[in-house]
Amino acid sequence: MKDENYLKAHNARSMWHPMTAPSDSLKNPPAIITGGKGVRITDIDGHEVVDGVGGLWNVNLGYSCQPVKDAITAQMERLPYYSTFRGTSNDCVIELAEELRKFFAPDGLVRAFFTSGGSDSVETALRLSRQYHKIRGDQGRVKFLSLKKGYHGTHMGGASVNGNANFRTMYEPLLPGCHHIPAPYTYRNPFNESDPAKLAQLCLQALEDEIAFQGASTIAAFIMEPILGAGGVIPPHESFMPGVEAICRKNGILLIADEVITAFGRTGAWTGSRLWGVKPDFACTAKAITNGYFPFGAAMISERVAEVFEADETGKAAIGHGYTYSGHPVGAAAALACLAETQKLDVKVNAAARGTELYQGLLALQAKHALIGDVRGGHGLMCALELVADRASKKPADKAIPGKVQAVAYQSGAMVRVSGNNIIMSPPLVLTSADVQVILSSLEAGFAAL
Ligand code: PMP
Repeated sequence: MKDENYLKAHNARSMWHPMTAPSDSLKNPPAIITGGKGVRITDIDGHEVVDGVGGLWNVNLGYSCQPVKDAITAQMERLPYYSTFRGTSNDCVIELAEELRKFFAPDGLVRAFFTSGGSDSVETALRLSRQYHKIRGDQGRVKFLSLKKGYHGTHMGGASVNGNANFRTMYEPLLPGCHHIPAPYTYRNPFNESDPAKLAQLCLQALEDEIAFQGASTIAAFIMEPILGAGGVIPPHESFMPGVEAICRKNGILLIADEVITAFGRTGAWTGSRLWGVKPDFACTAKAITNGYFPFGAAMISERVAEVFEADETGKAAIGHGYTYSGHPVGAAAALACLAETQKLDVKVNAAARGTELYQGLLALQAKHALIGDVRGGHGLMCALELVADRASKKPADKAIPGKVQAVAYQSGAMVRVSGNNIIMSPPLVLTSADVQVILSSLEAGFAAL
């Protein structure tokens, strides 16, 4: 490693950071993280904090998960790469596909298509959805519906179904035929409805209306996150996703669950689809599939969709899609070890228990600080605080405020993440109650300092 002076002098000079204005990272150079142990990370100044962000919603098992590290090292030595394109496979990926099939069986998902990350998994599900309809002779089903506030990665397809202007505007024109309906976001919605159950019904009606407007026979799929993540942790009412599923079925529209954040225990259930009791046609996964240690993902595919592809011998089901790193043996080895460890530790149980503590603590914080307009969470370890200038108008807090809270929280012992006027928490699922308290007391310090 280069010395501290070199690293600080060159920080952000020769690279652009994702989701950051280059001028910003030059003015406020990013923290240089040099170590990770358990649920804690250390920066170049030796400052150690609880990682309330869990990497980027992905380091579910923390930074010291030896079985995953060992699996990566051993596979690196044995076979560091081979492709899974037509004609070749590798032992790890065969075993992983079988293990994923068992893991996702309760969701009705029986096949895996491997990718290098979440955006790839989304793109895979979108493309295979169109192909599914074409194989069946339904040429006109090409459009996609999704939720405003949804986040589905950064490829052109994913960006087109994204529901946040800041990930879209500068990259337009995006894919034609992508349409959005209001998210069941209780704190702010176009219906001014504050009852989550009623709001879910209004959003479902909006979905029905949009389908009628577009024509059901033009729509390939509806994509949603079981709990919206990057949009500010928005858990829908329990009736919403089952309602979406029923509407999709009725209209011959495929349902894609974007489980890039929610799969593998984060919500307190093994998958977000299982949390709501729905069976999607695709589930997009990535992130925690390798505990963040190796770029990897999988689009999981339902039996219904698999049957159509597997029965076709006309050539229409030939998959003209795939990545050099689809089924990467090192990623597959990491994912196998990670899945075993995830299940052995039964991390969803701790996610639910610690998630409740964190959510309760955040509600207590809201009672003390008027800046906190809304607290969202209550389903495992994904929580957010939405900061407002005043609670009556719900006007978003001044742009600088969340960053100030975050900076003091960091100095006080916890990393949290700023996204717009939200402060987001998604810590490793293996954290303790004491770690939860560190996150809460650090945030408390952040708000007290304002
Ligand atoms: N979908 C969702 C729901 C996500 O949260 C993300 C990443 N935060 C993605 C897709 C994109 O994943 P990646 O950054 O690995 O491409």
